[in-house]
Amino acid sequence: MTRQIIVGNWKMNGLSRDSQELVKAITSGLPANSADVVVCPPFTQLGLLTDMLKPTPVKLGAQDCHQEVSGAHTGDISAPMLADLGVSYVVLGHSERRQEHGELDETVREKAMAATKAGLTPIVCIGETEDQRETGEHFDALGWQIKGSLPDGFNGILAYEPIWAIGTGLAATTDQIAETMKFLREELVRQFGEAGKVIKILYGGSVNAGNAATILPIPEVAGALVGGASLKADAFLSIVSAA
Ligand code: PGA
Repeated sequence: MTRQIIVGNWKMNGLSRDSQELVKAITSGLPANSADVVVCPPFTQLGLLTDMLKPTPVKLGAQDCHQEVSGAHTGDISAPMLADLGVSYVVLGHSERRQEHGELDETVREKAMAATKAGLTPIVCIGETEDQRETGEHFDALGWQIKGSLPDGFNGILAYEPIWAIGTGLAATTDQIAETMKFLREELVRQFGEAGKVIKILYGGSVNAGNAATILPIPEVAGALVGGASLKADAFLSIVSAA
């Protein structure tokens, strides 16, 4: 089995001192032969952490990038700027960005293309709303998001994050995850052919130290995208150890 990947999405958290302490605790507590680990701090911490992480196996990720390389886009950060800093991964199309910044599938797709072109690995997030789950429209919604958000020849990671499970403490059940992963794999193969067989799929949404050991062994789960629990070194390290 290939190594799983555990990605910490710090969201809008972390001043310099907290970020350094958190990274120090994570890197010094990493189990031997651990899963692949990525931390995604806010943009402001990337430069500071890149040197700290260089001698460690932990990789650095960002939480967004612009779809263009440079230009008149006040407040935005491009994929080549991230690559230039030593960033390896970028989370794209997180539901919080889709909701708070009106990001559409098409924009996410363009961002994924820009990230790949810059040498970054995009982690593209999709997920259904609570309504869609309740009315049984979740598979349709996820199928459309894959179609709209992943570019042709997608060479990255897909993260399945049911919106109702994010930050709620209520992760999807084992059965829900298993059934959805199976659907996502079939859909990836339907849309991408052979290449769809090897796209890694992460689960995200209230993954914590208590449920990681149940979620990570589910077939097709290649790892986890972790929000809240990635801000506490001991919780994050427990998740890494469960992989
Ligand atoms: P959570 O967030 O682990 O706090 O639910 C996951 C995410 O938003 O990526």
